[in-house]
Parts: sequence; C-alpha cells; structure tokens
Amino acid sequence: MKSTVVQDPARIAEILVGLPNVDVLGVDDSGPVLDVHVECQRARPGCPACGVMAHLKDQRPVSLVDLPCFGKPTRLVWHKRRWKCPDGDCPNGTWTEEDPRIAASRLAMTDRGGRWVTEQVGRCARSINEIAIELGCDWHTVNDAVIAYGEALVDHPDRFGLVEAVGLDEVLMVRVGPFHRQEFSTQIVDVGAGQLLDVVPGRSGAQPMAWLARQGPTWRLGVRHATLDLSGPYRRVFNVMLPDAVLVADPFHVVKLANTKLDECRRRVQNETVGHRGRKSDPLYRARRLLTRATERLSIEGREKLTGLLRAGDPRHEVATMWEAKEAVRELYSHADADVALAWVTQLGGDLQDPDCPIEARSLGRTLIRWRHEIAAWHHSHVSNGPTEAVNNLIKRVKRAAFGFRSFRNYRVRSLLYAGKPDWSLLAAITPH
Ligand SMILES: [Zn+2]
Repeated sequence: MKSTVVQDPARIAEILVGLPNVDVLGVDDSGPVLDVHVECQRARPGCPACGVMAHLKDQRPVSLVDLPCFGKPTRLVWHKRRWKCPDGDCPNGTWTEEDPRIAASRLAMTDRGGRWVTEQVGRCARSINEIAIELGCDWHTVNDAVIAYGEALVDHPDRFGLVEAVGLDEVLMVRVGPFHRQEFSTQIVDVGAGQLLDVVPGRSGAQPMAWLARQGPTWRLGVRHATLDLSGPYRRVFNVMLPDAVLVADPFHVVKLANTKLDECRRRVQNETVGHRGRKSDPLYRARRLLTRATERLSIEGREKLTGLLRAGDPRHEVATMWEAKEAVRELYSHADADVALAWVTQLGGDLQDPDCPIEARSLGRTLIRWRHEIAAWHHSHVSNGPTEAVNNLIKRVKRAAFGFRSFRNYRVRSLLYAGKPDWSLLAAITPH
C-alpha cells in the first residue's frame, strides 16, 4: 500500500469521523441508524468562576443528528462531561462541556450537519421534509438548524450595500385557519440587481418605514428611484423616508390594474345581460382569456372569435371600451419619451372619465390621473419591478417546497436564503444564531 494510507485502527476511526480533538469510543450499527460514540480529548479545565481545577461529575451521552455515513443515517453520540467546582462555596456549581466545532449548544444537529442542511434548503430550495427523511430525523431538528445558520448568513452586514433603486411589493405569504385568512408580507427589493433585500410582515407602511429607518441616512440618500405598485401606503413610506427619490409606478401593476378593471366590467355586463355569473356557454365568459391576453399575442382566429363573442355578449360596447382602454395602457410603454408618455397617460386618464364610459373605465381613469407622474417616471428611469416579479417567482418556488409557511421567521430566512443572494462562501465561517 502507498505510504499515505493509514492503517492504525484508532487513526482510521478518527479520520472517518473527521472531527478535531475527538476520540472515537465505538460504533453501533445494529439498528437502522449508525451511532458513532465520541468524547472530547480534553485536559481537566479550571472552574470558569474561581479557577480551581474542576472535578468530573459524570458523563452523559447526547445524540446529535449528523451527515449520513456511507449511505446510512448517522448519529454522533457525544459523551459530554459534566464538571463540578470542588470549592463548595463557589457559585458556579456544575457545568457541561461545550465545543461549537462539534455542535452549537442549543441544536440537536452537528455543526457540519447544520451548515449542510442550510445550503440544501436555502440554496437548492429543497424541502425541510425531504432533508429530514434523508437524515432520518424530525422536521424541527432540520428547521431549527436552517434558521440558526441561515439567519446568521442572511443578516450578514455585507449581504447588500448601497442600492440605487428600491421596490416595495406586497406578497401573499400564506392562508391560515379554516377560513383561509390571508397573511401578507412586504418584500423590499433591489430592483436593479433583482436581489431580495428583506421581507417584513404585513402590507401597511409601518414595517417598511422602520426598515428604511434602520438602514441609516447614507444608505437612504443613495436611493435614486423607488418603485411601487399603485398603493397609497407604500407611496407614503417613500415620501416620508426617501423624499429625494423619484417614485416610479411599476408597469406590471399598472397593466394588471387595467386587466382587473376589464375583468370587473366583463363580469358586471355578463350579470346584467344574462342575469347570472359566468357559465361555460356565455359569450363573455368564453371571451375572458382572450380579453386579457395582449393583442399582439392573439392569432387572427382569436381576434375574430373575440370580436364575435363581444358582438353577442356586449350590447352597449362597454367591455369593448374597457378592452381598448387596457390596450391603450399597454401602449403607454411603447413610447420611449417621458414627456410623450405623460401627455398620453393624462389624455387617456381624462378620456376614460367621460360620463359615457363604463364605471370601471372611469375608476381606471381616476387612478391613472392620480399616478400619472409616477407612471411616466418609468420612462425616465427604466427601472421596473420586473426583477421584483422575478424574485416573486423564486419565492413561489420556496413556498411550494414548504407547503406554506406558518412562522414569519421561517418565511423570511428561507426567502432571503433563496432570493437574497447571500454570500455562500461565508457559510463555513458564520456563527449560528
Ligand atoms: Zn469554582
């Protein structure tokens, strides 16, 4: 055999277990899980309070979930020493030995196991359940480790620096309880880099405001553009916290609002003309997908079908008016010039408020006028929530992997691990929370 091959049995065990300053006491492979018994190589310590040499009180095995060994779920059984101060007057009494290289004190998983599960769940978006099955342990053991290591990684101060364009976006986090009450969160995104900066609970302004306050004045001054959906609370957040930033209404939400109004109109006209909600045979119900599709994505047949369905189901041309309004809103983004765009949105918003227009068009017109400067500002900045939507899609993948989140802390850490671009090279060095 080559000279680098180790043959001493004690040394073989040490190498396979791979932990520093640890003696391998024995292994037990009689069950479905491999138990590896170890203890620390350690000289008798002094009492941390008074310095007198400690006495060994006892040694108790603590079973820690470890990485699988040769395809078998494995436990590291650490025979932890308990020490006692021999001085009866010392307030210190007894204490248990700790070694963060083996395991963080509060976790039921080894340190290397904790780092590995964090990467599996946070970077590869695998589910906690899947990892728990692989390691042969319960869900909480894995989850606790992902939170402890993951939070340290996502809260690392270098994860993001100055940001030029910040976006706020509300996201449905989870539906809870028998009535599926919706719980929302607000995500804060670097719109330029497509990086999730943070997630805060709720969709009111209070939490984003506090978050921006925590970033400090220098950081806030660096933000030149602030993108938002058409929501009052987020506008207020930016007006208060980033008074010098240019507000930009996110095109995705502007077009989405036009589509929502079109859909409202279709349902109302349907109800008024046939007297019930949409059924498969109703022309307007059959038109619902064709209506919201972008016109350039309609085939000639699709366009003819849409015209026919509107002729049959839209006697006062209300749905057709809303369809044209929606297309006009989309066309806004084909203008390259900001002044042209502002003139366009002002004209459109005014026209839609004509008393002859359907009620949904008038509502859309009022919103367009109220937000016209923020809408046209997109043409100056060309930032958008496009990256925000990309981040949203990443988070949806995380949510699918998790089957919905119950705890906000879980949700935040796992969203940021996956979409917050943490520096994974730091994982080996961080101290778990
Ligand atoms: Zn003592």
